[in-house]
Amino acid sequence: MSHASQRDTRVAYGAMCFWWGDIQQVGATPPKAVIIGGRQQVVSLPCCPTCGGMLMEAPTEAAFLKGAQDYEDKGNPGYVAFIRWSKGKCFKTRELAEAAYAKRATEGEPPRRRS
Ligand SMILES: [Zn+2]
Repeated sequence: MSHASQRDTRVAYGAMCFWWGDIQQVGATPPKAVIIGGRQQVVSLPCCPTCGGMLMEAPTEAAFLKGAQDYEDKGNPGYVAFIRWSKGKCFKTRELAEAAYAKRATEGEPPRRRS
């Protein structure tokens, strides 16, 4: 399928940082002259919009979350919710992301009063 008007559904995720988001959110490295096959070319690579780290991609968000679900099913409860929360946030490591997520969970929203 190649509809010109079709939305690009790919998602990208960090190879060097803990970031993921829609392909439209991806940043680009500053243009840099490199020699490819003996010819000079100016390249700009897709990268994390926050830290500039290199990215990998998955065809759709559903496919990406399927991977998270598989991981959760292997004995990591709450992993999918954590991944959904982390969308668009750059962390240097998964440990830092998990720490921020845990902090958010304890600070959370104030409990609702019952009337
Ligand atoms: Zn990053």
